[in-house]
Amino acid sequence: MLNIQGIHKSFGSLQVINNLSFEVKEGEFVAIIGPSGSGKSTLFQLIGGISTLDGGAILLDEEDIQLKRGTIGYMPQQPCLLPWRTILENVTIVEELQQQPHIEQAQAWLEKVGLAQFENAYPNALSGGMQQRVSFIRAIVSDKPILCLDEPFSALDEFTRLEMQAWLLSIWEQHRKSILFVTHNIEEALFLADRILVLTKRPATIKEEMIVPFERPRSEGIRHSAKFYA
Ligand code: ATP
Ligand code: MG
Repeated sequence: MLNIQGIHKSFGSLQVINNLSFEVKEGEFVAIIGPSGSGKSTLFQLIGGISTLDGGAILLDEEDIQLKRGTIGYMPQQPCLLPWRTILENVTIVEELQQQPHIEQAQAWLEKVGLAQFENAYPNALSGGMQQRVSFIRAIVSDKPILCLDEPFSALDEFTRLEMQAWLLSIWEQHRKSILFVTHNIEEALFLADRILVLTKRPATIKEEMIVPFERPRSEGIRHSAKFYA
């Protein structure tokens, strides 16, 4: 489904990604891990279509990803919320979402992550972890077939992180999306992913590919009926 073919990316003289190739199948849940500075966010910016390749190709169903930008729900490492827009406006920023039932769906999800009372607030009224949850909802609300989540839960307390992991797993189980996510948390990678790709330090190439060796626990019954606290 998603084919990364021999891609290259440099910033000036700094070569960050060198001849990186891998494939993600439909419905796969893939974790990307690797040291800080190894190019994980750069890779996601390329897949998310907000940065351009120096070489190689990223294909989605055999078409250039640039022609299929609408198919990827991309969550950047930094929340990047628009400060002059309310939280609800931020998560429904694209035109196609500015009508029902999308607005209701966005409101329901803000409620699910404990942020219902903030939908008309502005981003500077929210903590880092709250902004991260808003950014997560912005990535998932438009129901794209592929999600690219760059350290989606890194700013959360342990309890909220477990809730969000269980919720992401239940979304994946229900909708069978292809999900790629970056994490520094090995336990999170093992818990969520089917496969873990390890990037080497610069320039990024895949060092090792690990198939998660055990059956992932099912999300039913795991905490996701518990309450979120903002
Ligand atoms: P972390 O785990 O800390 O988030 P990462 O693996 O996501 O790290 P990247 O953010 O992809 O790493 O950065 C990889 C390298 O590319 C770093 O050395 C960084 O300084 C450099 N880099 C990233 N973006 C730019 C840019 N826009 N201009 C110049 N250099 C950049
Ligand atoms: Mg990063």
